[in-house]
Amino acid sequence: MDHAMRFAEPDSIEEVLSLLAADPEARCLAGGATLVAMMNAGLTAPSLLVSLRKLPGLASIDPQADGAVRVGAMARHATVAAHDGFAGAQAILAAAARRIGHPAIRTMGTIGGSISHADPSADYPTAITAADAVVEIAGPEGARAVPADEFFVDWLETALAPGEIVTGVVVPPDATDAAVHYEKFTRADGDFATVAAAACVALAEDGAVAALRVAAGGVAPTPIRRREAEAALIGRPLTEDGLAALGAALADLSDPIDDMRGSADYRRRLLPRIVGRAVRRAAAAFTARSGARSGTGPQAGGVA
Ligand SMILES: Cc1cc2nc3c(=O)[nH]c(=O)nc-3n(C[C@H](O)[C@H](O)[C@H](O)COP(=O)(O)OP(=O)(O)OC[C@H]3O[C@@H](n4cnc5c(N)ncnc54)[C@H](O)[C@@H]3O)c2cc1C
Repeated sequence: MDHAMRFAEPDSIEEVLSLLAADPEARCLAGGATLVAMMNAGLTAPSLLVSLRKLPGLASIDPQADGAVRVGAMARHATVAAHDGFAGAQAILAAAARRIGHPAIRTMGTIGGSISHADPSADYPTAITAADAVVEIAGPEGARAVPADEFFVDWLETALAPGEIVTGVVVPPDATDAAVHYEKFTRADGDFATVAAAACVALAEDGAVAALRVAAGGVAPTPIRRREAEAALIGRPLTEDGLAALGAALADLSDPIDDMRGSADYRRRLLPRIVGRAVRRAAAAFTARSGARSGTGPQAGGVA
């Protein structure tokens, strides 16, 4: 097949947008970890690759005046994994980034590429949904911001309109100073998740749950959350029954598929266990951190 592919490396967002607008077959190129693999496999053949590599300000992670953290779309997974400026629930992004693939993929892949591809088994979609992050978008009609749980629309489908790109992810401040845990069940080390859960947990002094956010991935076309089931656990000690109820609520909402990583039925059964483990480990991390801060050692926060 004679297919001449062109390559552009603009240094402004305006130029990226005008190149994408001029050619519906053009694709933007971030880390290339997925796009180049898809091209090599003959699954896609863009007429033009528009690299985002030279865009200023897209690869950095910047604290905002209100305590939010803005992660540029071109920030590599390894950079997010090592970032120590996240506070409270924001740290779920770093926890998820540390579990992506293996070191070569973490050096190559970007958060913008990962969420734009929107693989439901990928790690960032679940993490940014748990963090209540907002996706920053630039496009021919201007800039807009879309909450994570509206950004992921369906299997490999996002709220991005043709010609739009992701410029960053803004992670809001967390007044509850939650501790986090990203639990990922895989067939093999470095694989995509069969089932994953991102948990952000804060406990009161008496050990009752003060704040809880949990998203699950790999179990539906998009990450899933059950906010009312999270709210039902607030103000009470964390119990196995409570965790089972949260896991069951998420399993009810799940819509998994059969694939090489597991059957739909297997994923549905696994989900409550992975959710329970994620929440228990985040709670234990909260307790250990409080103990370390007060110098009294771990106290409340285990599963009652
Ligand atoms: C062997 C292997 C193992 C992997 N394991 C995991 C894993 O365990 N967990 C996990 O989560 N991921 C995993 N990945 C995926 C990887 O982490 C990357 O996130 C993913 O490849 C996409 O990021 P990228 O920067 O490479 O994007 P690219 O491959 O450059 O682009 C992917 C798609 O997104 C579009 N795109 C890129 N950037 C933008 C943007 N800013 N705005 C709009 N559209 C954009 C591109 O046009 C393309 O369609 C794995 C990949 C490989 C190859």
